[in-house]
Amino acid sequence: MKALNADLHCHSTVSDGLLAPAELVRRAHGNGVDVLALTDHDELGGLETAAAAAGELGMRLINGVEISVSWAEDQTVHIIGLGVDRQFAPLVQGLASVRGGRDARARRIAAELDKVAIHGAYEGALKYVGNPALISRSHFARYIVELGHAKDVKGVFDWWLAKGKPGHVKHAWATMEDAMGWIHGAGGIAVVAHPGRYRLSRAELARMLAMFKDLGGIGIEVVSGSHNEEHIRDHAHLARRHGFLASRGSDFHGPGESWIDLGRMPHLPDDLTPVWTRLH
Ligand code: AMP
Ligand code: MN
Ligand code: MN
Ligand code: MN
Repeated sequence: MKALNADLHCHSTVSDGLLAPAELVRRAHGNGVDVLALTDHDELGGLETAAAAAGELGMRLINGVEISVSWAEDQTVHIIGLGVDRQFAPLVQGLASVRGGRDARARRIAAELDKVAIHGAYEGALKYVGNPALISRSHFARYIVELGHAKDVKGVFDWWLAKGKPGHVKHAWATMEDAMGWIHGAGGIAVVAHPGRYRLSRAELARMLAMFKDLGGIGIEVVSGSHNEEHIRDHAHLARRHGFLASRGSDFHGPGESWIDLGRMPHLPDDLTPVWTRLH
């Protein structure tokens, strides 16, 4: 039997992606995706048009969101909600409050970048923003590439925007408890995004996953656009050991900018139970 091509993680212009929701859906369909979840950062605003576009193509679309969460001492983790009711008021309001902190954070990022001679970064980043409430480091990255300081967005993060670099400022996102409460209240399931990308020790990762599980979390991304083969092996092992369902997502942001195109990731290892078995 042909494995289902599910891509449960991607971004549109409603957050930091380069394609509008309907374009993203059409590209996914063209790439052979059977089930797509649109998971913009801290936003549900693209889901309605994405659903309409998917409906026209007869493709299954799942309502998703990738929530920015602060955990422990200044660690950021991303928790994905899948199958959420996009009108559930506490989720809608909770996400609005998370987004509310982004503008002031962006101004602080720009002030820090100014000290290392990258001037006008707030206005520069805004040129790339589709949704002003969702100004993110990706938009700064595009501006810094425009200035010629790096050849691509990935290169910018290593020098300017990753943790410990000038354009990374401390920020309080949602708490894990709140994010999980909003997702579950909205009838969704919670999945840890790209666990291989966090700079956590094994012990810290185990502690984070234990907390996530205590709060009702059921899945982790095993296959992700930001996981290499070793990450896939390690996280498949973690899913088996801790009894997590497995998710698969490209984390696609745009042509030319992302490692992997929509639906073009490896399949999940056969013995794992996919998260989409819990989505109807
Ligand atoms: P923010 O939510 O403003 O902190 O921005 C986070 C976004 O920046 C992520 O969702 C990615 O799209 C992007 N990002 C973070 N780290 C990297 C990286 N090393 N390379 C490319 N993009 C990255
Ligand atoms: Mn992003
Ligand atoms: Mn993420
Ligand atoms: Mn993402």
